[in-house]
Parts: sequence; structure tokens; C-alpha cells
Amino acid sequence: MQIRSWLRAGLLAAAAGVALHAGSAQAQQGSLVMYCGVQEEWCRAMSIAFEKETGIKVAMTRKSAGEIYAQLKAESSNPRGDIWWGGTGDPHLQAAEEGLTTEYESPMNKDLNDWAISQWKAAKKRTIGIYAGALGFGYNTELIKQKGVPEPKCWADLLNAKFRDDVQVADPNSSGTAYNLLATVVQLMGEDKGFDYLKALHKNVSQYTKSGAAPAKAASLGETAVGIVFVHDAVVFAVQGDPIKPVAPCEGTGYEIGSMSIVKGARNLDNAKKFYDWALTPAAQALAAPAKSYQVPSNKNAPIPAQAPKMSEMKLINYDFVKYGSSAERTRLLAKWDKEVKALPK
Ligand code: PLP
Repeated sequence: MQIRSWLRAGLLAAAAGVALHAGSAQAQQGSLVMYCGVQEEWCRAMSIAFEKETGIKVAMTRKSAGEIYAQLKAESSNPRGDIWWGGTGDPHLQAAEEGLTTEYESPMNKDLNDWAISQWKAAKKRTIGIYAGALGFGYNTELIKQKGVPEPKCWADLLNAKFRDDVQVADPNSSGTAYNLLATVVQLMGEDKGFDYLKALHKNVSQYTKSGAAPAKAASLGETAVGIVFVHDAVVFAVQGDPIKPVAPCEGTGYEIGSMSIVKGARNLDNAKKFYDWALTPAAQALAAPAKSYQVPSNKNAPIPAQAPKMSEMKLINYDFVKYGSSAERTRLLAKWDKEVKALPK
């Protein structure tokens, strides 16, 4: 089934307003080292709530998805992390294939949308979907008026010479968002045309940021005209009244299945499993929206934030997670991007 049908089914099944059960702090239950791949505010909300609920002390670090993958690889002979929660699915799938993460079957699986389980099956039980979100961009409405350019609606519009040095996007080596862009244009346009697009875009890119959501903030502040980000990352600033408009590109776009994995050799394996089960509950997933994260949750009974972009109404590609999350393909595409795009003079 395509994600649009999955999402429609999920929307129907979603029950609104599930409250977090009032978990009083229990006795100290040990610790958990969490590598967190979403925005800092949501990472903090999750670790604080889990600590309150279980008494397990959480040591959390926020990093971009490509960075967490690289850290797991570097630490593989002496693992330090227990759970990798959040961030785009492709690096989670690569880590699964390389044996950096471990199998787990949660009793919560039965309550999840098909797209979350499909991620779990693709990874041979080593990663699972926790949310979904579509790729797009956000543009600063005031800067667009000042420039006198039509409002960009399509990927092609970002190549307009009037956007020279006025587009920001992250570096796909560090950022899951930017790798999602790389894999999206290759799937949408074909590899040759996709790379031609990225090379042409390079002329307009003022900087490749480390974190995927940073360009949304820059666009909301008027530091750049366009930020290529997940649509929900642009929505964060639009709902607070900043002059930024989120766009799902007209040609079609890719999407992420944000994922969670248990680190192979985790020192606090039981606590990692406790966190994993808890993170799949409607109550834990409902912590996203108050932390200004507007993805579609993977639990069918979790409330979908009112602000979440309507993925079922977007033109989404049939993103091949197995291929673009494979170690060989991700490594190959990143090396090609470094050589053929990033190294280009402007
Ligand atoms: N922020 C949000 C809200 C996301 O949904 C995601 C992807 O899962 C990211 C950030 C990814 O961050 P990065 O591109 O820095 O890896």
C-alpha cells in the first residue's frame, strides 16, 4: 500500500486527545543513553517525560541523523549509546544493515500504521517507524516580494537566478533531511537529471548547514529567501506568525519515516526496550505537538497534530526506503554528491 492510503487509513483510525498518564517518579531505575535525532525541544520533552514515568535517568544528546549513524559506527567496538530515537529512516536502515543496531519486537507493534511496520520489516526488526513527514521548502514571503519573483511552488522554481546565494539546505552527510532531498530528486527525476538539478541548485545555495531544520529558521528570520526542509519544519515558524510559507513542491516530493533503533551492545538494554515500548504509545507520541513538532505519529491511536501538513493531499513519490537506506546506495550517493556537487565552484 502507498503511504497516502496508509495515511488516510491512519487519519480515520486516529483517536484524538490521549492524555499522558500521570506517572509519578518511581525509585531510581538506572539510566539510559539516548541519541536523539529530532529537534532539541522534542528531545527534551521525551527524556523528561520518560524519566518522570519510570525513574530511569536519561542522558540525551541531540544530533543530526547522519552524525548519529557515524557516531554508532565509530563506537561500534565499544558502544556508548542505548537508544537512537528519531531522525530520518535512511541512516537507521543503513545502521541496521551494518549490524550497528539490534532486533526487537515490541508489544506495541500491533497498534502501529503499516508504514511504520514496513520500515521494521525492511530492517529485519532493527528499526521502526515513529513518525512520517514530507519534504519541501519554506520561503520568506517578504523577501519574495522584495525580489519581485513569483512565489516558488515547484523544485524547478528554486533554480531561478534571482535566488542566487539565497537558498539554504543542509549537507546530506550530516543531515537526514538533506539526504532525503538527494534521494528524492534521484527518484523523482532519474539519477542524471537529479544530479543536474542539484548542481544547478548549488549555484543558489549560500551555505550547506549541519542540521536539516536550520534553513527553516533562517528563512523565517529573513536570513535566506528559501530553506529546503521537511514541510513540518517550516510550519513550526508559520504557526508562530513568522513570514514563511511552507510548500510541498508541485512535481511531487519524497518523505521520511522517522525511526527508532536499539543500539547493538547497549549497556542498558532493558531500559532501551522500556523506552522503545513507551515511545510507541499514544501518550508519548502526543508529546510532539506541544514541543512544536508536527509530524504524523506512527501509533494509529495517537492524535495527529492539527498543524501537521496533510500528507494525504500531497503528490508523494513511492520512496524506495530499502534501496536508498542501503549501505551501498547511501555511501555511493553521498560520495557522488561530495565530488560532483559540493566541490563545484559557484
Ligand atoms: N527535525 C525534524 C522535526 C525532523 O522531523 C527531522 C527528521 O526526522 C529532522 C529534524 C532531521 O534532522 P537532520 O536533517 O538534522 O538530521
